Formats: sequence, structure tokens, C-alpha cells
Amino acid sequence: MKQADLVITNTAEIITVSGNGRPKRGKEMSNLEIIPRGAVACNRGRIVWVGPETDMDRYVSIEPDAVHVDAENGAILPGLVDCHTHLIFAGSRENEFAQKIAGVPYMEIAAAGGGIKSTVRATRAASVADLVAAGRQRIREGFSFGVTAHEIKSGYGLDTESELKILRAARDLRSEMNMELPRTFLGAHEIPPKTGRREYLDLVCEEMIPRVAREGLAEFCDVFCEKGVFSVEEARRVLNTGLLHGLSPKIHAEQLSNSGGTVLAAELNAVSADHLDYIDDDGIHALIRSGTIGVLLPGAVFFLGLNRYAPARKMIDSGMTIALSTDFNPGSCMSQNLPLIMTIACTQCRMTIQEAISACTLNAAFAAGRGTVCGSIEPGKRADLIILDTPAYSMIPYHFGHNHVRHVFCGGIPVVRNFCFQSFP
Ligand SMILES: [Zn+2]
Repeated sequence: MKQADLVITNTAEIITVSGNGRPKRGKEMSNLEIIPRGAVACNRGRIVWVGPETDMDRYVSIEPDAVHVDAENGAILPGLVDCHTHLIFAGSRENEFAQKIAGVPYMEIAAAGGGIKSTVRATRAASVADLVAAGRQRIREGFSFGVTAHEIKSGYGLDTESELKILRAARDLRSEMNMELPRTFLGAHEIPPKTGRREYLDLVCEEMIPRVAREGLAEFCDVFCEKGVFSVEEARRVLNTGLLHGLSPKIHAEQLSNSGGTVLAAELNAVSADHLDYIDDDGIHALIRSGTIGVLLPGAVFFLGLNRYAPARKMIDSGMTIALSTDFNPGSCMSQNLPLIMTIACTQCRMTIQEAISACTLNAAFAAGRGTVCGSIEPGKRADLIILDTPAYSMIPYHFGHNHVRHVFCGGIPVVRNFCFQSFP
């Protein structure tokens, strides 16, 4: 018998997304491993049992003071994993958004000190405590959308101390929040103003990466490989230096043009290659061979008002492993609403509802290096769970913009309770 200090019963169904210890590839993404009328039992923050509610008595011994949650016929999902975020930054750019929609070109905004430069200025001026406070607020917002784990990238410091400061803020959040917040060093996000590119790359490779690794501040190293930013050769140097220091590679690739980043990702067996709006057939086949996860960020395409979305249908039909994420950042996707990203993936990238769910849970957990820890409802995993206000999980992408998340547990702790409208007095 399994001891339980938290049980959830009276569910319509449990969408376990369980997957044999590896991410779901191609067709497997359609299989959500659903248990109708299921129950889930947890102990000390971990899932200990999941199965049909009628079987629970035979396998689970409920502690006298256990928390018993009635799902009121809602569906249960694993907590969502946002596997590509720039969660820690200071300032915001709503004025620039207004300019952009009025038709001012980005280059003009950037030349006037706006764009990424303004976020870098604000982030450099912020203290670790400021950044932790901003991060905490955003993590709480993530909870309201059912997100119980975030990958967090640096990249708005662009000098050694500021990059380390962002990663330290993410580390402090990790110890405060009891949740999975894997960190990625993205010093090679952009070349800072008044710095030569060679000079900056030397700084990234010879000073930043060794210090990040020495202080244990990140487990991944990422680079923005794009025309006008970092070339494939430069990206290779950054990622290889990361590998030498024990940081696993990730890459921003083929976002605005086909620059060859996916082939590099495959060559280095990167954990993930992200964006991929301009990926070609060679890129798809390279990623399938290397097992690199394609992380699609359709919210950025949507928010930038572009129209070229990643060819998700072709990628999944060819057998690729796909995850979805917000790309939450102040310039190209100012939203943490991962359920809304599912809708965009379904309508614009032609992903099925089941594929979108796999892509935001188990596959996202693998893309964030946490595939054995969270992302599915399986014994041994963290008790990261969402209870919906509806029996049908397909309502999430369908009823877009509405929040179907009613209760959220993160490591067995309730972080959202009964998120719903109160009735009028
Ligand atoms: Zn990004």
C-alpha cells in the first residue's frame, strides 16, 4: 500500500501524458494515456499512485490528516512546463508596442535607444532583489495559467556581472519557490552597444561561460543564431565552449531566416532547437536523427504580426519531437499564457489538441531537462497538477483566452485555489 497525504478524486478523467521515460515523438504525441474517472494520490510532494478511482482503496492508504480534493468532475492535467522563457528582466516596452503597431520600423525604434537596448538598460540598473521580485510575480501569473515549471534564460545583461545577476536571481527563486526552474545562460543573445562582435564573443567564451559554470549558475548554454546576430560559426564557438564547461547546448534557430542553426543543433546533439519558423527539410531530418527537440514559439510570430509559422504538421508527421512554449519576453512575446499558445499552435501550425497538450507537458519537460521529474502524471514524479473547471481538456485551446484552470498544485502544495468568479451577493 502507498501512503498518501493528498488525494484527488471525482475527476472526469486524468490526462496522464505518461511516456516510458522519454519524450513523445511524431505520432506518439497524439496519445495522452487518459484514465477515465481516475484518482491520483500523492505523498510528500510526489505522485505515488494514479489509476481508476474504484481501484484506489486497494493500493493507497490515506493518512488520517490527508488533504482530500474533490475535482467536481473536472479533468486533471500535469502542470504545464514553459520550456523557453526570458522570465527575468526589468522594465517593459508598451510604448514601443504602440510605435510598432503605428508602423515605426524596429530599426528606427532601436536607433532611438528602444528595443532590446532599453530592456538591457533597465535590467543592468536593477538589483538582484528587484529581479527576484519581478520573477516571483511572473511565476505567480504562470501558476494562474497552470504553469508549474519554467526554463529561465539570461540575456538582458550582456555584460558579465549583469548576466550573472540574472542567473543568481533565477537561482534564488528556485530555492524560494519549491519548483523546477532550470537556468540557461544566453549571454550570446545580442551584441551590446559600443562593443565589437569579436570582443564580445571573446568575453562570452573566455569570461562569462567559465564563471557561470564555476558558480553552477546554469545547466544550458544558448545562442541567438540569426542573420545580423550570431552566425553558425560564432554559435558553434559559443556552444562548444559551453560544452567544454559542462553546459548542454540549446539554440535560437531559423526564427527570421534559414541560417543553418538546426544543422548545428543536430551536430552538437543539442537538447533543443527553438523557433524553427524557417526550418527546411534538411533541418527537420537532421533534428530527427539527433533526437533534438524542436521547441515552437508561435506566440512570438503572432505578437510580431508575422505570418510564417513553423511547419509543425510536417515536423510531427515526419517523426519529430515537438514542444511548445511562450518565449515570454518584453519584445517579441509579452505573454505567459501557455494555454493561449496552444490555441495559436492548433489554428496556425495545424497541431492537434492532443499534440499541443503533449508539447506543453511531457515534451516541454524534456526540453527543459526535467523529463524524468515532471511533465506527466506518473508515480515518482512531482505532484505538479492542474484541475480544470471542465470535464473536457479540449476546452483549453478551443475556448481561447478563457482560463479553465481552477486549482493548481506545485510539488503537492496548492498554489491556485478555486480560481473562479464569485457569485454576486
Ligand atoms: Zn527566446
